[in-house]
Amino acid sequence: MIIDDQHYDIIIVGTGAGGGTLAQKLAPTGKRILILERGDFMPLEEQNRTNVDVFKRERYHAPEQWYDETGEPFSPQTNYAVGGNTKIYGAVLMRMRERDFEAVPHQEGTSPEWELKYSDFEPYYTEAEQLYRVHGQTGADPSEPLHSAEYPCSAVAHEPHVQSIVDAIAAQNLHPTPLPLTLADQDDDPTGDSEVFGIQPALQYKNVTLKTSALVTGLHTNPSGRIVKAVEAQVGDQAILFTGDIIVLACGAINSAALLLRSANDKHPHGLANRTDLVGRNLMKQQMTAIVQLSTSVNSGTFPRSVSVNDFYWGDDNYDYPMGHIYNTGGLLQDVIFAESPPLLSVLAKVLPGFGLKQLAMRSIGWWAQTETLPDPQSRVRLDKGKLRLEYTPNNTEAHDRLVYRWMDVLQAVEKSVKGFQRSGVYPRAEVPVQVVASQCGTCRLGSDPATSVLDLNCRTHELDNLYVVDSSFFPSCSSISPGLTVIANALRVGDHLCHL
Ligand SMILES: Cc1cc2nc3c(=O)[nH]c(=O)nc-3n(C[C@H](O)[C@H](O)[C@H](O)COP(=O)(O)OP(=O)(O)OC[C@H]3O[C@@H](n4cnc5c(N)ncnc54)[C@H](O)[C@@H]3O)c2cc1C
Repeated sequence: MIIDDQHYDIIIVGTGAGGGTLAQKLAPTGKRILILERGDFMPLEEQNRTNVDVFKRERYHAPEQWYDETGEPFSPQTNYAVGGNTKIYGAVLMRMRERDFEAVPHQEGTSPEWELKYSDFEPYYTEAEQLYRVHGQTGADPSEPLHSAEYPCSAVAHEPHVQSIVDAIAAQNLHPTPLPLTLADQDDDPTGDSEVFGIQPALQYKNVTLKTSALVTGLHTNPSGRIVKAVEAQVGDQAILFTGDIIVLACGAINSAALLLRSANDKHPHGLANRTDLVGRNLMKQQMTAIVQLSTSVNSGTFPRSVSVNDFYWGDDNYDYPMGHIYNTGGLLQDVIFAESPPLLSVLAKVLPGFGLKQLAMRSIGWWAQTETLPDPQSRVRLDKGKLRLEYTPNNTEAHDRLVYRWMDVLQAVEKSVKGFQRSGVYPRAEVPVQVVASQCGTCRLGSDPATSVLDLNCRTHELDNLYVVDSSFFPSCSSISPGLTVIANALRVGDHLCHL
């Protein structure tokens, strides 16, 4: 084993929404920062979705195997590269709602109150939207929380055929709203991500070092177990120990939990920061169903996502509990729906016989329905003889089913006034399978009580004085909104704290 001869003030592991953003925030402080990333830079032609063949499933899946609770192996939908999952994400950066930070009753239980409130996050949401050049519009969505500043860029216009659908949705007294999207305004890679807005600006500073293809395999503590002394990484065929004063994990909720568990030692026999056996538990990922509307006309298949509907976010006339969030997929030639849902494809092929995959995609308009999952200690990341195992049981399913059926009613009404649809009343749909871990969160929940949380309110582990986690692990509940903007805002918040140490 080699011991690196540099000593760093801060070591950040991972360059996704959490790690990349934090690096950008800390770089101007002059602190010596080392960033370790297991992946490499993604080739430009792979980043631009309009050039990418989304039917190739492998593109969205890591070349490794995890295991489900029955022991079946699967390739997880996760991206190991500079920028992490933000290199392949949908680029929708939306705020959680004010009530999402409170205890919210659901049919199957209560989603827990956060000790930090929307008002604690609001300044950082604003900072995040400015940093990631979010294009959006306030004031159109009644569920939208207070913004202390407008979006820095105006909302992306809907494609003409999407605009006619949007008008027909609005005619039903609903509130279709432009989706907030991060755009870098670069022709060759239009979506904003944590490489563009986090890592690239951080690397302008001489005090920041990035090592790619550096897989962190373990954390070593001092003899008392109170401090992480060294970070062990496999760089090429060499194991190297890096030392730093502060260690920040940002590997994503599943991989950060796995790394803590993998780093067990005499002082922490069940894994670092895991005296209460909470590390890896309460894994959440939102319920997501893709719903397809069948067109008689052909579309390009490569237009951006642009609209969301939150009228059923907190329920509807027939259901007093939260149902969730709807947004369109954008053109299906650039959305992950088909890559993730072979069952959806076979239903589509039956109702539109004689068409190839691409022709099917170009005769379809896609929607995502997304619903909160409640934290469940039995849904967890576990290591089984070194193998990463996800034991995960979906919950709150009736709320999600109701959202899906309510949305199909809306689509049927749309088709009465908009031409170009099959009007068959058939909407091929499919829930995403277990390997889709896009919205993973919650494995190291945040709170002030060490008996019920892994991280304190600054995202420092209760048990180790210099160990922080700033990816999506910290979420006490997941809401129905995709986690990206909240991960970014939280990294900026924790960054403020670390700047002053
Ligand atoms: C297909 C897809 C679409 C999505 N669309 C949206 C969307 O539209 N809006 C939204 O808000 N969210 C979306 N998400 C979710 C969003 O991408 C994540 O919430 C966000 O990226 C999480 O940030 P993170 O920092 O927790 O982890 P990640 O972004 O996953 O970053 C983790 C980083 O750690 C690195 N890493 C992992 N383990 C190690 C290790 N042992 N050593 C060194 N490095 C390591 C990884 O390579 C990666 O760079 C989507 C995700 C996917 C997959």
